[in-house]
Amino acid sequence: MYDIKCDTHTHTLYSRHAYSTIKENVEAASEVGLELLVSTDHFSGMQWTDYKNSKNYQYLFTSPMTWPDVWMGVRLLSGCEADIVGLNGELFGQDISVTESIVGDPFKVPTTLYEHTTKNMDYVIASIHGKSFTKDATRNQMTDMYIKALQQEKVLILGHMGRSGLDVDFKAIAEAAKSMNKLLEVNEHSFDFGEKKTDSITKRRCRELLEICADIGCHVSIATDAHISTLIGHFDETKKLLEEVHFPEGLIASLNKKTFLEALKASGIKN
Ligand SMILES: [Zn+2]
Ligand SMILES: [Zn+2]
Repeated sequence: MYDIKCDTHTHTLYSRHAYSTIKENVEAASEVGLELLVSTDHFSGMQWTDYKNSKNYQYLFTSPMTWPDVWMGVRLLSGCEADIVGLNGELFGQDISVTESIVGDPFKVPTTLYEHTTKNMDYVIASIHGKSFTKDATRNQMTDMYIKALQQEKVLILGHMGRSGLDVDFKAIAEAAKSMNKLLEVNEHSFDFGEKKTDSITKRRCRELLEICADIGCHVSIATDAHISTLIGHFDETKKLLEEVHFPEGLIASLNKKTFLEALKASGIKN
């Protein structure tokens, strides 16, 4: 049985449809024996009506300077889950300019909301949530979209491709991820949407993704995508899939603190 000691994709109540504080999440991580926790609240237009205003993202850009590196024995990293919003792999906030600080002091050099929010973070997960912009896209275009999102600054992980349902070439994406030393994710939350059945579409897609990663030697990140502290560190359905495909433990970047910090370093992402 896989003994996974990191949870690399989790949410606090700042995601607005999640329910726990960072302390409750760290406590839960400590209780279940995790070595490393990454808090990755949504960075997206879904939370705030005034979504272009940098004041609404203080919970993201101040966390790297505020949180302890180690809390209750758990190594704590700060990140976010940014929405992919365009077929060229554009991420939320890259087209929104920020010209002043939250107290109104003008910046010498204007920046973008993406850069302003993510620059001190450990990493970004790029995921698809709203997918209406992909409606007329071809398989090649959507494959390319994921690869370009993974190439963006700070992005370490492509989030839950199994769940997105988009018809893409997993092999091409896994090969690109491998060449960039970046990670593809399978997360437990994907199976929460009436998807517990072994033959559900999401399960089939996640299984296929894992098989391809095992085949070509692409590292993966296993996470919960927990939206409440009680789910932190519980990977039961995902572990079943890993077992079914006999996934090599050496390709699980999130296996433990050492393997994950090594993977983060290998990606070249700096905070
Ligand atoms: Zn969410
Ligand atoms: Zn998430």
